[in-house]
Amino acid sequence: MNPLLRRVLIGFPAGLLAGTALLIILGYPFLTVVFCALVGACYSASLDPTRGTYVDNLMAGAALGVPLWGLVSVIGIPVLSGHQPEWNAAQMRSQFPALIGWVIYGAVLGFLVQALNDMAARFWGPETASRVPNETEKTRIVILGGGFAGMHTAECLEQQFRTNPNVKLTLISDTNALLFTPMLAEVAGSSLEPTHISTPLRSSLHRTEFIRGQVSRVDLEGRRIFLASDPTAPESSPGREVSYDHLVFALGAVSNYLGMANLQKYSFNFKSLLDAIRIRNHVIEMFERADRDPARRRALLTFVVAGGGFAGVELAGAVNDYAHGILADYPKLQREDLSVVLVHSRDRILPELSESLARYAQERMEARGVIFRLNTRLIDAGPGVVTLSDGEIQAETLVWTAGTAPNPLVQALPLDKDKRRALVVDRSLAVPGRPGLWALGDCAAVIDAKTEKPCPPTAQFALREAQVLARNIRAHVEGRPLRKFHFDSLGALCVVGHQTACAELSVPFARNKLVRFSGLLAWAMWRGIYLSKLPGLERKIRVAMDWVVELFFPRDIVQTIELK
Ligand SMILES: Cc1cc2nc3c(=O)[nH]c(=O)nc-3n(C[C@H](O)[C@H](O)[C@H](O)COP(=O)(O)OP(=O)(O)OC[C@H]3O[C@@H](n4cnc5c(N)ncnc54)[C@H](O)[C@@H]3O)c2cc1C
Repeated sequence: MNPLLRRVLIGFPAGLLAGTALLIILGYPFLTVVFCALVGACYSASLDPTRGTYVDNLMAGAALGVPLWGLVSVIGIPVLSGHQPEWNAAQMRSQFPALIGWVIYGAVLGFLVQALNDMAARFWGPETASRVPNETEKTRIVILGGGFAGMHTAECLEQQFRTNPNVKLTLISDTNALLFTPMLAEVAGSSLEPTHISTPLRSSLHRTEFIRGQVSRVDLEGRRIFLASDPTAPESSPGREVSYDHLVFALGAVSNYLGMANLQKYSFNFKSLLDAIRIRNHVIEMFERADRDPARRRALLTFVVAGGGFAGVELAGAVNDYAHGILADYPKLQREDLSVVLVHSRDRILPELSESLARYAQERMEARGVIFRLNTRLIDAGPGVVTLSDGEIQAETLVWTAGTAPNPLVQALPLDKDKRRALVVDRSLAVPGRPGLWALGDCAAVIDAKTEKPCPPTAQFALREAQVLARNIRAHVEGRPLRKFHFDSLGALCVVGHQTACAELSVPFARNKLVRFSGLLAWAMWRGIYLSKLPGLERKIRVAMDWVVELFFPRDIVQTIELK
């Protein structure tokens, strides 16, 4: 049986059974039973069952009860009955039994799903083939990079080769978790806890061997990968070496400072989790220093973001919200001392969206105090100063989101590159003339087989490329024809701060038709869509809980790392 169908069939009755207790508390018998059964099906579908993990499931289910309580009892039911959701001491007291009910529901659901999974494994056998790598493997597939492209390729390969023990899968990455970049701005803006948007690779992949390490060199002729030696190991110890039959490049991109060394030196990067943590801590540091240094106050509280694409706009919106949100903690500082400046070289931000939506985004951000410097380029930076093509800004903070380039390791390979220096692949994502080499994601120059246009370097495309690439590797191994890559973008969503977003979504089955939304609806949609895309149930619950907490409490100003 299809594993997903099997999990849904298990989750549905488990949710139904677990939900009966809630009937007494919630009322609405039909809606409650259907909702609980659906939650059970989704919960079970998102799990990868492991025998006997009763405590894990009990805890995960109980934790799931808290956001469900927030969504249903605190917000959903009052809204359905035509009332405004309220949050005060009396309301809290009256909602307490519902909270207990939801937590018990979650715990019972987790327990039942585990019990039914174990029973199903006894009667129908395990869902997938053995997870223990077979020592007699013949084909070794190595994936470089644990981002969207690499991680999803590994997941799809596990699926493709689930009944073939003669294939060994290995993923090498210098980070041990997949970073969910669409939520990175929320970490910089202190809405989300950093680890909640990162999914550990080891626990997400089952049959794939994971090696945490930095790839330093690829020997294409000898079909070997060299890993940089551990900095703590003795100097004489050699770096590790891994051989392959198929090699997948999914190494992503890095910031490109267009040759301006000072920009690299004096700006913050905005690509990794550490970058977002640094930015958040730096913003707090600037507030602390501004509090005791009136002479430099303006420069300390001026935050410049370079780049008006999605990353730059979302970051400027998040930092602006955060900075305004924490002003109350610094009584000596005034709103007028604060400025968030977005510098962009073109005449409008968000070139990926329609002009009207991009203008709307700009207007909303301007209304919240963000200053736009359009048709302006950054040409230099120094301590406390940012030089633009039309003047200078006294600012202690500069974040660079204005350019990216494929990973330097890929750029250095003796293979064909496009003008972005990305690795050229054919329509089936194979490197032409090099059997066994494949590439996808931000480090590859992928051309859509239907439109013949370059695919944008986004997670949305990287995930679809991974599916086709995994099928093609299997087809190659089994001697079948390869599939060409084509994907119609689902659209774009961008949060501009303060519960406002812009969305431009494709209409299913209507070619080139887009629907546009903005404001609160688009923001709610953004949260719903990205929460559903965040890998792992546990992470979803953690992020949902962060969002519920954020609704009722002010942003945190605790510094978590020391800035040098
Ligand atoms: C702030 C921000 C917001 C974004 N928002 C969106 C969005 O809303 N929607 C969307 O579709 N896209 C978004 N993107 C783009 C999206 O993140 C990228 O397109 C996507 O991550 C590309 O996936 P990838 O796997 O090719 O690269 P990455 O996700 O960058 O993964 C590359 C991996 O390779 C590893 N690696 C690099 N070098 C080495 C080495 N030498 N050795 C070992 N491992 C190495 C890295 O650690 C990383 O795990 C956003 C990007 C950013 C920066």
